[in-house]
Amino acid sequence: MDFRLSEEQEALRESVRDFAREVVAPAIAEHYEQHTFPYEIVRQMGKMGLFGLPFPEEHGGMGGDYFALCLALEELARIDSSVAITLEAAVSLGAMPIYRFGTDEQQAQWLPKLLSGEALAAFGLTEPGTGSDAGGTQTRAVLDGDEWVINGSKAFITNSGTDITSLVTVTAVTGTRPDGSKELSSIIVPSGTPGFTVAPAYSKVGWTASDTHELTFDDCRVPAANLLGQRGRGFAQFLRTLDEGRIAIAALAVGLAQGCVDESIKYAKERHAFGQPIGNYQAIQFKIADMELRAHTARLAYYDAAARMLAGEPFKRQAAIAKLHASTIAVDNAREATQIHGGYGFMNEYPVARFWRDAKILEIGEGTSEVQRMVIARDLGI
Ligand SMILES: Cc1cc2nc3c(=O)[nH]c(=O)nc-3n(C[C@H](O)[C@H](O)[C@H](O)COP(=O)(O)OP(=O)(O)OC[C@H]3O[C@@H](n4cnc5c(N)ncnc54)[C@H](O)[C@@H]3O)c2cc1C
Repeated sequence: MDFRLSEEQEALRESVRDFAREVVAPAIAEHYEQHTFPYEIVRQMGKMGLFGLPFPEEHGGMGGDYFALCLALEELARIDSSVAITLEAAVSLGAMPIYRFGTDEQQAQWLPKLLSGEALAAFGLTEPGTGSDAGGTQTRAVLDGDEWVINGSKAFITNSGTDITSLVTVTAVTGTRPDGSKELSSIIVPSGTPGFTVAPAYSKVGWTASDTHELTFDDCRVPAANLLGQRGRGFAQFLRTLDEGRIAIAALAVGLAQGCVDESIKYAKERHAFGQPIGNYQAIQFKIADMELRAHTARLAYYDAAARMLAGEPFKRQAAIAKLHASTIAVDNAREATQIHGGYGFMNEYPVARFWRDAKILEIGEGTSEVQRMVIARDLGI
């Protein structure tokens, strides 16, 4: 058992860390404040090959693996989570289902631009009336000749309304199974298709420089060939997509938690109270030691889940554990980092304020903490 990174992995981590410090850090506060999408940062991430990290070179990818993506997400989130979630959703929810389940034609049509970061794809599973209970999908798609006619709506869809969004993959009810249950399928809807409307961006508490919209489909017609993979496999496809995505969200959460440690150490050395740096007080030292403990153990949890996944072993439970643990400790670390910063921690100009606002959604997105516990318990046979 060896949790040390290879030279190549270490080099990737270093280069993303430098990029996050030198390019993301100086620019992101303004985007966060203004709620604007960081196109220039995304363009540079594309040039670095980050959107193609876990894909083979024949599709235009970098020939890396899912763990490489996780390392990049951790380093980005150490500085900023809006940028990290933009990458996470673009790769794990956007491009990955097309790579995993798409036909040769779909892959040839969409992957080159998605993997270069010139275009973004979104994944529309959640609906206004149903999130955790994804089987409760109400959106319907009916085959009419050689076209699917889609009606319904999707809520909170990341990367769905940027200027460079090329498509959203939506889950829809396409029929009824012999046992009376819903037949769910995934269908690719290109941006700009008549009947597909993107609502104005949500006003969010955190991740304010990332792109999130409600989508509606009103007699929206797409070619029958836009079905992703097999008809009726929608449920299995999104379960696989979410299982993997949980490891990526865990990595992102670890990055945020580590960023809290970084900022707290810096501040504890600079800030004086009662005649000395607050870092001299054991109460502050212990807070920071506990924050490091939490980030370190959560990192091991996502490394373990990723290693199992890459070895082709079952990883559902470990991915849920990693996501549950990392998101919980990200919230804890953000709270403690804010506390260490005192009143300044409540000021938006300090990165910890952003960490605090960005941490909570990690306990909700890609499966709430309650859903992770359900997954773990079910996997334990309870
Ligand atoms: C910023 C943002 C970006 C997002 N991006 C995407 C995206 O790109 N694509 C996408 O499809 N979705 C996306 N989502 C949606 C996200 O995945 C859902 O919000 C999440 O899965 C929870 O669903 P819900 O909001 O409907 O909550 P609900 O399912 O309504 O849950 C409400 C509460 O009830 C609890 N609960 C539900 N069922 C049970 C149960 N059986 N036992 C115990 N407790 C239960 C939940 O844990 C939660 O605490 C995004 C959300 C946000 C906020």
